[in-house]
Amino acid sequence: MRSICYSFSTIFDKIIKRQIPAKIIYEDKHCLAFEDINPKAKIHVLVIPKEHLDRLSNATEQHINLLGNLMYAVNRVGRQLQLEGYRVVINDGQKGGQTVFHLHAHILSGENLPGFE
Ligand code: IMP
Repeated sequence: MRSICYSFSTIFDKIIKRQIPAKIIYEDKHCLAFEDINPKAKIHVLVIPKEHLDRLSNATEQHINLLGNLMYAVNRVGRQLQLEGYRVVINDGQKGGQTVFHLHAHILSGENLPGFE
């Protein structure tokens, strides 16, 4: 039988509740953005929805607004930091490299990122 973990207490839920510190750089009604603790680029920001959704592949029709709000928050962070360009990454599931099971978008920037050619 497939087991699904419904635990809401990921490290990101604790950051939302200000139970652990984070370098928060943007917040709106729906989303929060903060610096990644282990940056993989000169600028590495994580953008998360305040509502809990563990991973992109578990989104349903009821999450369409959440997903839109998340992408809009990415746009706001890019503007706030005056990024000239950036890469947005969402890892989904263990096999997709996801380690924190609270949906998040990585914004990578501050340098010339290699293309996929
Ligand atoms: P994932 O591998 O796509 O799930 O990304 C999780 C990211 O969260 C990694 O890039 C980690 O460096 C980052 N991370 C883990 N714990 C913290 C934290 O407490 N503050 C900020 N970033 C974190």
